[in-house]
Amino acid sequence: MNILDDLSLARYTTMHIGGPAHEIIEVFNESDVPEAVSYARNKNYPLLVIGQGSNLIFSDKGFDGCVVINKISGLSINKISGQVKVGGGVSWHELVVKTVEAGLIGIEAMAMIPGTCGATPVNNIGAYGQELKDVFLSLRAYDTQTNQFIVMKKIECQFGYRSSRFKDKEHGRYIITEMTLQLHQTPPAYSAPDYPSLIERLRGKELKTPTPRQVMETVMEIRSEKLPDPSKLASVGSFFKNPIISNNKVDQLLRQYPDMPHFPQKDGAMTKLSGGWLIEKAGLKGIHKNGIWVYEGSALVLVNEHSASFKDLWSMVTLIQSTVSATFGITLEPEPELFV
Ligand SMILES: Cc1cc2nc3c(=O)[nH]c(=O)nc-3n(C[C@H](O)[C@H](O)[C@H](O)COP(=O)(O)OP(=O)(O)OC[C@H]3O[C@@H](n4cnc5c(N)ncnc54)[C@H](O)[C@@H]3O)c2cc1C
Repeated sequence: MNILDDLSLARYTTMHIGGPAHEIIEVFNESDVPEAVSYARNKNYPLLVIGQGSNLIFSDKGFDGCVVINKISGLSINKISGQVKVGGGVSWHELVVKTVEAGLIGIEAMAMIPGTCGATPVNNIGAYGQELKDVFLSLRAYDTQTNQFIVMKKIECQFGYRSSRFKDKEHGRYIITEMTLQLHQTPPAYSAPDYPSLIERLRGKELKTPTPRQVMETVMEIRSEKLPDPSKLASVGSFFKNPIISNNKVDQLLRQYPDMPHFPQKDGAMTKLSGGWLIEKAGLKGIHKNGIWVYEGSALVLVNEHSASFKDLWSMVTLIQSTVSATFGITLEPEPELFV
């Protein structure tokens, strides 16, 4: 393991905001993990494991404890069985590219989601009609309560829409070190995931029978247009969740805003709205304030333009929340995890 000298958390998150931690430790293999845990324990520090920091925000106070950065590598792809074993610190996008190159399908539409493989079960990541849980077999993790490595199968992970047992009930208990996925060889009659904007773009390119690689590249094209590249612009992707509200409320809003995009949910009682549309309609898309920019490509994204502080970010967040609430009577909830 490696104990870092630079303790500013802004360096280790894609939003580039956040004060210091007491300690920051990188772990490179499984044997580093118990060592890092007992190091933090001996100093009486709470411990938090992170990957690339693309789904969390630290306040200007930082984190009152020890942050462990997962850099555990390793990748084995079995082209025949479709089983893939990957280290928790490997970049998710790199995994997608390598599995597509190996002729496997199952995650090709989840290209360009930032972050590490070890973090993907936490949120049960998904995009363009694919979701981690659909290809997930098991994971290895260090249980900080029993001080043992364990193997957890899919059913035990309690995956839901962008959620799992690691996100809520047992956040911080497990340090995920490895994950096994079940992908599939590309069948002769391969078709792209049935996701409207992806299908529309493929049609526009006259790709009636696209290959998995063409699907991956098309997703990358769409994402590059909509979302800022975290290596160039500091953000956490979508800052707000798309609100899900009652059908009654939607009917009221549709009388006033007939062009409002709305997506009825499976339960029949609730409807999902586009948070980006609400922000844009409230007149906030493209505005700049104290170094924070409501991104032109998608109003759900907030960009840290000039070393903004958490205070600057929060002043934009409250401006958006209060304006959207005053205009539509809807409260937008932040998407990333907040350590404040
Ligand atoms: C531009 C952009 C676009 C995005 N698009 C999408 C998208 O399309 N779909 C989607 O689902 N998400 C998306 N995200 C969110 C983000 O990429 C995912 O949540 C990603 O899995 C986070 O990975 P990370 O390594 O950065 O995790 P971090 O942000 O470092 O951590 C996130 C959470 O996971 C925990 N964690 C991290 N590693 C481990 C581990 N090894 N063991 C246990 N817990 C751990 C942390 O404690 C924290 O609670 C996007 C983010 C950005 C910036």
